[in-house]
Amino acid sequence: MIYDIAIIGAGVTGAMTAYYLAKYDLHVAVLEKNSDVASGTTKANSAIVHAGFDAKPGTKKAALNVKGCAMMETLTETLGVHYKKCGSYVLGFSDGDKDRLEELKARGEQNGVPELSILSGEELRKKEPNLSPEVKWALSAPTAGIVCPYDLTLALAENAASNGVDFYFDFPVCAVRRAGETYVLEGNGREVEARYIVNAAGLASADMATLLGEENFPVTILPRRGEYMLLDRAEGAFVSATMFVLPDERGKGILISPTVDGNLIVGPNAQLVEDREDRATTDAGLAEITAGARRIAPGVNLRAVITSFAGVRSTPSTGDFYLEISEQCPHVIHAVGIESPGLASSPAVGEYIVSLLAKDGVVLREKETYVKERRPGGNRPLFRDLSEAEKQARIKEDPAYGKIVCRCETITEGDILDAIRRPVGARNLDMVKRRVRAGMGRCQGGFCSPRVAELLASELKVPLSTITKTGGGSYLLTEKTK
Ligand SMILES: Cc1cc2nc3c(=O)[nH]c(=O)nc-3n(C[C@H](O)[C@H](O)[C@H](O)COP(=O)(O)OP(=O)(O)OC[C@H]3O[C@@H](n4cnc5c(N)ncnc54)[C@H](O)[C@@H]3O)c2cc1C
Repeated sequence: MIYDIAIIGAGVTGAMTAYYLAKYDLHVAVLEKNSDVASGTTKANSAIVHAGFDAKPGTKKAALNVKGCAMMETLTETLGVHYKKCGSYVLGFSDGDKDRLEELKARGEQNGVPELSILSGEELRKKEPNLSPEVKWALSAPTAGIVCPYDLTLALAENAASNGVDFYFDFPVCAVRRAGETYVLEGNGREVEARYIVNAAGLASADMATLLGEENFPVTILPRRGEYMLLDRAEGAFVSATMFVLPDERGKGILISPTVDGNLIVGPNAQLVEDREDRATTDAGLAEITAGARRIAPGVNLRAVITSFAGVRSTPSTGDFYLEISEQCPHVIHAVGIESPGLASSPAVGEYIVSLLAKDGVVLREKETYVKERRPGGNRPLFRDLSEAEKQARIKEDPAYGKIVCRCETITEGDILDAIRRPVGARNLDMVKRRVRAGMGRCQGGFCSPRVAELLASELKVPLSTITKTGGGSYLLTEKTK
């Protein structure tokens, strides 16, 4: 089949574009080099839906951030994705900082961010008693929020797949040739042919532009790593909103924030790395985060860390999102340098990419069969999030919901089977973890992994020895011992 559009990359940018395109009568394919959606930068970030005061007025970043933030609540409600409009504060530690907070407020107002105000440290500590007594001033942005980046991306992909979009995983686009009016994209011995290409390859997007045929592409990507610590759910209420410090030339600085799943996240630092796949955490990095977090709130309980991880930003040399129709390669749209606030901006970025496709000749005719919810039959919350009566009804309907597999996160066998059977279903442990949180709690999968692997093997009808942690060669079992 010749697709109308092939999207390269299944991060939040690619998945959002697929979600919007799925409303129309078009054949769309998403090609992803890894085995799941959200496995690049979208997997590991602060998960903040920024209000939009940080980006330089007049940039695409500023406009799309403010618009994306305003769109997020309705979008997540439609798709059944956890989102919380918890607000954010930028903290100032001196009267000099107050001037910088005022500048940030003025910049935000220019960008169109509503409801910004400056509070004194005492006022803020009445709401947030755990903050340092050294906090003198704060910029309040009540429209900011938090979201789960991979649940959002998964929901977009599930909806797109339910509406006919084809996902090709383990498809690293490594060669491109022009065949008349179409492009033939090659990956892992397979080929996909399409009339239009959306380049949403994240950290690889500038290289992808070259592969697609661009000469002297105007953007280069600087990979900048950010490390994090995630604290146990017992610490989730330590602050009720995202706490930033004043941004510097390296980024938005180290923050403390609740997550939608009730944990507390601390980080990130910002280090340029040579290898864009370098997601290592380091002693020095974690020490930097520890110092940054204690400056905000000296009592933060860093003994409650359950995991540490890192993400890599695709910082563009131009300082702005590069969202353009190619001048050199016919029918190619580039989404390059989608660094922070790329998650917050994603609803507006996806819409913008679709508008560029339309400008370049794609006809957008709405489908009659379009499913609005996450998947046909509606959104299906986790068993643990149901009321007592709903829980009883669900167990009656399917006894697998009566068996808890992940004790830390209260995830049932029914939830795990659903993660495997749904559109863009799970095929390895990490895919189950991202869909239903089994293995994401305090023990980090120590207890539930063997049972999850058994369920995967029996549902997918494959030997247990072929089940992996995260695709590729990450096998769990190497040989039989007894
Ligand atoms: C430390 C850190 C903190 C951040 N915090 C925030 C925040 O709080 N709020 C916010 O709004 N934003 C934040 N961001 C930014 C946000 O995460 C990104 O803007 C967003 O995830 C970018 O999504 P993307 O889809 O463009 O890229 P990605 O998620 O990287 O997706 C690109 C995809 O393309 C795939 N790919 C690459 N090459 C190929 C190929 N050859 N063939 C096929 N597929 C390919 C990759 O595997 C990947 O899945 C943060 C980023 C980092 C690193």
